[in-house]
Amino acid sequence: MPDYISALDLFTIGIGPSSSHTVGPMRAALLFAKALEAEGKISNTEKVTVNLYGSLGATGPGHGTTNAIVAGLAGATPEQCNPNDVLKAWDQAVTASAWQVLDKTIVFSEKDFNFQPLIRLAKHSNAMKFTASESSGETLLEQTYYSVGGGFVEADHELAKVSRGSVPFEFNNAEELLAICEKENLSIAELAWQNEVYLHGEQELTRRLDAIWSAMQSCIEQGLKEKGVLPGYLAVTRRAADMADRLAKFDTAEVSNEWLQAYAIAVNEQNAAGMRVVTAPTNGAAGIIPAVGYYAMKFKNVPSENIAKEYLLVAGAIGSLYKRNASISGAEAGCQGEVGSACSMAAAGLASVLGATNQQIENAAEIAMEHNLGLTCDPVGGFVQMPCIERNAIASGTAVSAVRLALLGDGSHKISLDTVIETMRQTGVDMSSKYKETSLGGLAVNVVEC
Ligand code: SF4
Repeated sequence: MPDYISALDLFTIGIGPSSSHTVGPMRAALLFAKALEAEGKISNTEKVTVNLYGSLGATGPGHGTTNAIVAGLAGATPEQCNPNDVLKAWDQAVTASAWQVLDKTIVFSEKDFNFQPLIRLAKHSNAMKFTASESSGETLLEQTYYSVGGGFVEADHELAKVSRGSVPFEFNNAEELLAICEKENLSIAELAWQNEVYLHGEQELTRRLDAIWSAMQSCIEQGLKEKGVLPGYLAVTRRAADMADRLAKFDTAEVSNEWLQAYAIAVNEQNAAGMRVVTAPTNGAAGIIPAVGYYAMKFKNVPSENIAKEYLLVAGAIGSLYKRNASISGAEAGCQGEVGSACSMAAAGLASVLGATNQQIENAAEIAMEHNLGLTCDPVGGFVQMPCIERNAIASGTAVSAVRLALLGDGSHKISLDTVIETMRQTGVDMSSKYKETSLGGLAVNVVEC
């Protein structure tokens, strides 16, 4: 049985614009710096080169990869860094012709980064190789890392990871999850709570869930205030704040769906601007789960505490099925893996906090993914802006609609959640690499850049 995938793995506080292209590379760069430190090689390091392969090589600067690697090598973490400092990291290295490996300053040249979008390493298309060498040119350390989606990083050299051990209720798929719930007379939320308490302890779990939900709310609230133009030559104008200004003139209940969309857009604009966001389960799809949770709190009278403890845990339990049995990575499965998974997770969480049965929750999650199947990833210019920002707004609406449909039934349905997850996986395998976060197809090549 593979390790349990915790909600705290799927929801991590970090920065925009991309979990696999910003958060993952920052973690990989820091891992490399720490490896150099652990082997006592930092003092001899005079040069570091970075090869970015596949989709990292295709969209690197647009997805903030270069800034993230420079900051990560210097010791920054996605959780603790100042997003505004990260945004300046690459330019500062270029201007100073110097960058940091933790505390050591070494010479920097733009040529230290090699972008190789047409090379796909066997293990994963989001690969990066770090090489440190001494003044003679002798290699001190070389390591390859893979950013496998949602900010998760795997290293080529890693030995088998230490297992977390078994949780009280292990499940591989939705069918097993429902069967355990039935046998133990538990809701999905109760089962997830017991597993997570086993892993983290009640106090730590509560603290971290509260911090995640708090960061999600702050991101929405800040995004609803920010105006101006997003980074990048596309010059995309932020619109969440204008939407909020207009919606404030209406009776709120009349425009709850519009608010839902504004919440999602607010988060994804913050993400595109490289600000503090919660990966949920990726950054490109970071708006959906916060928006639907905030909507539940504002318009469905769900207490904030229930969003943190129930909504996020049920969404996380469903997200673990996507990560385990298909993919949450746009580079592996296209946007169905990112926005589709987030939509399904949000639908499950919302159904739960609205009192759905386990079968209705599974049905809501299934409906939400079913209508995202085949969704390609084609960010224009490599920026996580078009279609990503608006797509989160639409998917938030889809999640709410899926819950409405599920709640009108008794939970029985023909197509199971496991079937759509497997269908998503197969569709991702068949999908041309042009539509997997490379910006080589779809809108990315049909929108005129100016
Ligand atoms: S199109 Fe979808 S998968 Fe691709 S970057 Fe945008 S949100 Fe992520």
